[in-house]
Amino acid sequence: MRRGFKAEAERQAEKARTEMGKRPSDHVDALDLATHVGAIVRRADELTSRERLQTLEEIQPGAFSACTFTIGDQHIIVYNPISSPGRTQSDIAHEVSHVVLMHEMKTVETIAGLAFFTCDAEEEQEANWLAGCLLLPRRLLYLAVRRGMRAPDIAEQYNVSEQMAAFRLRTTGVLRQLGASGE
Ligand SMILES: [Zn+2]
Repeated sequence: MRRGFKAEAERQAEKARTEMGKRPSDHVDALDLATHVGAIVRRADELTSRERLQTLEEIQPGAFSACTFTIGDQHIIVYNPISSPGRTQSDIAHEVSHVVLMHEMKTVETIAGLAFFTCDAEEEQEANWLAGCLLLPRRLLYLAVRRGMRAPDIAEQYNVSEQMAAFRLRTTGVLRQLGASGE
């Protein structure tokens, strides 16, 4: 990732939360983030059958999480309803991040008869990173750890996967800063 991107991502996340009228410890739902950036969110089973999504998942697990279509200047985020709620939150936040970062979807891939648009690898990394910041900004993690919360508590309270909570705790250095153990 380019120099300065991580700090910029934290700032973008804080800015979005402030604009949404959220306090530092508030839970922010990925669907609300999507609305905030002006995107429409649709479940993929509104566009294709649930059976087809299930077949795709069997052929290539995790092949389709979410994607964004842009028609005119309207962004439409489509997510896979088969995924777990925590996973859905990060998938939608990932797509919101592409919108925030004004990434252009370029590549079209076809898997099991469904077309997917993807960004280049660098942009995918940026979107993943910003998604983590949007759902669990550093300030929120700092306050949570200070209250004695750890990854499982954070995952439950903020409706994210435990892996996401653990990843963010590790990469933000919050545990280290507060001299807390990860257990
Ligand atoms: Zn992406």
